Amino acid sequence: MATSSEEETCVFCKIVREKTAVFFYENEGFIAFKDKKPAAAHHYLIIPKKHVKNPSTLQPSDLELVKQLFSIGKEVLQRQNASTDDARFGFHWPPFNSIQHLHMHAISPASSMGFVSKLIFKPDTYWFVSAASLVEKLEKKISET
Ligand SMILES: [Zn+2]
Ligand SMILES: [Zn+2]
Repeated sequence: MATSSEEETCVFCKIVREKTAVFFYENEGFIAFKDKKPAAAHHYLIIPKKHVKNPSTLQPSDLELVKQLFSIGKEVLQRQNASTDDARFGFHWPPFNSIQHLHMHAISPASSMGFVSKLIFKPDTYWFVSAASLVEKLEKKISET
C-alpha cells in the first residue's frame, strides 16, 4: 500500500507511535500537543491518531472528525485556562500546509499574535481555513447531495 511508507516518514505518525511529545489530550482516536513554533502563549495541534491527509481531501463523511477536532481544541484550551473566545481554530490549506497529516491549530489568545502569525493564521484566506468554516463547508456538501 502506498500509504504505509507515507506513514513511516510522517512526523505526526511518529509522534503518535513513539510518544515523542507531551500529550495535552489523548483519547482513543486523537492527541493534542504543543506546536513547535507557538504563535501565542497557547498553541496546540490536535490530530487524529490515524494518518488522515490534508483538509482538502476531507469528504462529507469526515464531518464528525472535524467536529471532534474542534471540540477537543476547545477542551485543550479550557484545561490550560486559556480563552476559547479570543482563540483561533483552523487548518492550513494545501499547498500551505507543511505537514500532510491532518492537524488543527488551536491558538490562544489570538489577539496576542504578532503581525506575521496573524497573517499565517488569518481565517478564511486561501491558505488558512477556520474550523467553523470547514464544518460549514462539509455540512453544505451534505445538504447538496
Ligand atoms: Zn501521519
Ligand atoms: Zn498547520
